[in-house]
Parts: sequence; structure tokens; C-alpha cells
Amino acid sequence: MNHPPITCICGCGNTGENWRRRLLKACYQRHLRAGTLHQFPRANRSRWYAPRAGRIEDYFDLLRFGVPRQHIPDRLGITNRTLHRYERDLRVLAHYVIHLAATSQHAEQAAA
Ligand SMILES: [Zn+2]
Repeated sequence: MNHPPITCICGCGNTGENWRRRLLKACYQRHLRAGTLHQFPRANRSRWYAPRAGRIEDYFDLLRFGVPRQHIPDRLGITNRTLHRYERDLRVLAHYVIHLAATSQHAEQAAA
């Protein structure tokens, strides 16, 4: 193995060679077939995307930890306007995920 082994990010707990997107080969293929690969973004995110996505994740984590929404701009050093943008992005993403889940359920039913 040329590269040090990784722990697969899919949650399977297995370690091995990074095939793509920090997934092991079997897991990559399983998600590829299931149409759920979008959950695991490519490692080479653009410079524009990566920091912003990280802040949106931070926002979501703070919410999940129970930090009141109105305190989050201060905690992250962002404006209220930016908070609204993050929330808009998360709403779009939520609709997208729901759509994909519904679509992949249909695909599974069709295959069954
Ligand atoms: Zn895995």
C-alpha cells in the first residue's frame, strides 16, 4: 500500500486504502450504486467552497448543541445577513437531500 490507511468516512468503521473521497473501495461502490455518493464530497474542494462549507457546518453544529440561533452570528463572527444566507443554503440542501432520498427509494423499489 503506497498511502497510509484511512478510516472510511462512511461510518462503517473499517480502515484501509483510500479509494475515492476518503471511502474504501467497497463503500465507494456501494454508495455509487445506491446513488448516495453525494454525501461524501470530493476532497479537492475549491478554495471558495471549503471555508464557507466549514462555517455552515459550524453553524449547524452550534444549533445542534443547543446554542440559541440569535447568538450564533457572534459565536461565528458573521453578520445576521450571512446567517440568513447560510439558512437559505441549508434549506435548499434539505430539499435536495429529501428529493434524492425519495428518488433513490423509487430506484430501490424498482430494483426489488
Ligand atoms: Zn465505509
